[in-house]
This record gives sequence, structure tokens and C-alpha cells, in this order.
Amino acid sequence: MAIIGFVGLGNMGNPMMRNLLKAGHRVKAFDVSMAAVEAARQSGAEGAATAADAARDVDAVVTMLPAGHHVRAVYTAENGLIAAARPGTLMIDCSTIDVESARAVSAAATAAGLEMVDAPVSGGVGGAAAGTLTFMVGGADAAFERAQAILQAMGKAVIHAGPAGNGQAAKICNNMILGVTMIATCEAFSLAAKLGLDAQKLFDISSKSSGQNWSMTSYCPVPGPVPTSPANRDYQAGFTAAMMLKDLKLAQQAAAASGAATPLGASAEALYAMFCNGGDADRDFSGIFKLLNGKA
Ligand code: NAD
Repeated sequence: MAIIGFVGLGNMGNPMMRNLLKAGHRVKAFDVSMAAVEAARQSGAEGAATAADAARDVDAVVTMLPAGHHVRAVYTAENGLIAAARPGTLMIDCSTIDVESARAVSAAATAAGLEMVDAPVSGGVGGAAAGTLTFMVGGADAAFERAQAILQAMGKAVIHAGPAGNGQAAKICNNMILGVTMIATCEAFSLAAKLGLDAQKLFDISSKSSGQNWSMTSYCPVPGPVPTSPANRDYQAGFTAAMMLKDLKLAQQAAAASGAATPLGASAEALYAMFCNGGDADRDFSGIFKLLNGKA
């Protein structure tokens, strides 16, 4: 079993860290929130006084931080993770961040004699608690092999997407599909209602026709057809609209930097910005049905 530093013990990081403990790993945990470190201690982790302390004399470090600038700072600061880790330490960043930051931090880690993968997740807080996350991993083959053993303690699927940054690329491409198909599904249910077509009937037909998609069949944005979907509990998240907006912004940033044409991704970003700015940032992202249906 490994000794693992864990930095970023929030909604996702805390349950992920607990699954590492459950798998028998020793964990040194750090967060800027003392309360988060204390909670980790009560779960059986050792508390670290700084991020550097969590990275010293460990086999691997896992980070789960809010955004790219946090990841850059925590890794590359003078007293950051890269400076503190001994050569050969495996660095695993599970945060969702921009591809450019992921590649820059990975290059800095590699130059310092460390191995690194970016490994953003799909599955949300429920998946983090249940240990059923999907990890999309970018990095060299050898780093991926080492990371797999650790990531399997926190997830059900660990997929190598290619070199550094490709885990983030996979994550934003996937979530751009999700944002766009959610809006398309909402528009279809809204139009159906105006045409006098019952939501359950549209579901029964489209879920078996070419309009079928995950947003409809697993996460239906209208109440009724899928009893487990947030639409049946007034769009309590789930996956918040703010998180979806964050990922759509990252996708647009990457599209602009790479010259990809993503007009539907851009429209989805604008609609989610409107939904969030209207006070619904904390609602489930499927709640955008209310905006598109004129009831936000
Ligand atoms: P969160 O805000 O709950 O947790 C982030 C944690 O990082 C906080 O505890 C914060 O105190 C800590 N932190 C911030 N700066 C720090 C620093 N410099 N040093 C140490 N700790 C620091 O966020 P979350 O929901 O756990 O999300 C974490 C990442 O996972 C994000 O990148 C998010 O996009 C991604 N993600 C979240 C979900 C979800 O459903 N919540 C799903 C998939 C991916």
C-alpha cells in the first residue's frame, strides 16, 4: 500500500480521500480550510500543515482543486508540491482545469524528475462517495500505469486518453456534448408541450428513436419519465449549473486557442451563463428547462 499526499479536501476531495484510506493507503491530507483537514484526520488521515508537507516523503500526491490557477500555484510555487516531492513521486491532478495549465504543470513536474498525470473525473459527489468515478487520464504510459492502481480505489473506470492534458481535453469535450444535448432535449420537451404532445409520449418515442441521448434517458429534464432525475425534486443538484458553465467556458477557451469551430458549445455557454446569472447557479443543470420553457 502507498503513502499518498492529498491536497484539496472539498466536496469531491474528501470522499475520494476516504476511499484511498478504505483501500488501505496511508494519507497525508492538506487543505487551506483547517476544518477540512480536521475532518480528514477524523476519517483516519494524517493532517499536513502545508501542501509541501503533504508532498514530502510520499509515493504519490493527489490534488482536487477548484481551477487552473489554484493548480498552477499549488504545484509550481517556491514552496509548492513540485519543490517538495522527492524525485520519482507520482503527481495526480484530478481537478477539472484548462488544458494549457494541465500541460504546463505536467511539463514542470516532469522537468523536476517527477511523473504526472491529469485525471479529471466524471460522476460527481455521489460517484466520489461510492468510489464509482470515471477517470480520464492524460500522461505518459508509465505514469498512467502507476496511477491506475491508485485511481481504481476511487473509481470504476480509468481510461488513458493520451499524453499530458488529454484527460482534460476528454472531460471538456464530453461535457460540451452533455451541455448541448441537455439544451436540445429541453427545447424538444418545451416544443412538444406547446404542440400538445405529452412529455411521457415524447419520451417513449424519442428514447427509442434517433433523438435518444443520455440527457433524455438517464437525466430527463422534465418531471415524470425518469423518476431518479433532478426534475422530480425541483432541480436540486446533482450537477450544478455553475459546474456546467465552468466546463463550457473551459471548452470555449480551448476551442478559441485551437481554432476549433464549436458554435453550439458557444450557444450552450451563453445560455448557461444566462441561467446562472438569473440566480440558478446552484440548481441542477437540467433546470435550464425552466429558462427554455419560459418559467425560470
Ligand atoms: P470544492 O470547492 O468543494 O473543493 C475544493 C477544495 O480545494 C476546497 O476544500 C478548498 O478549500 C481547497 N483549496 C482551494 N485552494 C487550495 C489551496 N491553495 N491549497 C489547498 N486546498 C485548496 O470543489 P469540488 O466540488 O470538490 O470540486 C473540485 C474539482 O472537481 C473542481 O475542479 C471541479 O470542477 C471538479 N469536479 C467537481 C464535481 C462536482 O460535482 N462537485 C464533478 C466533477 C468534477
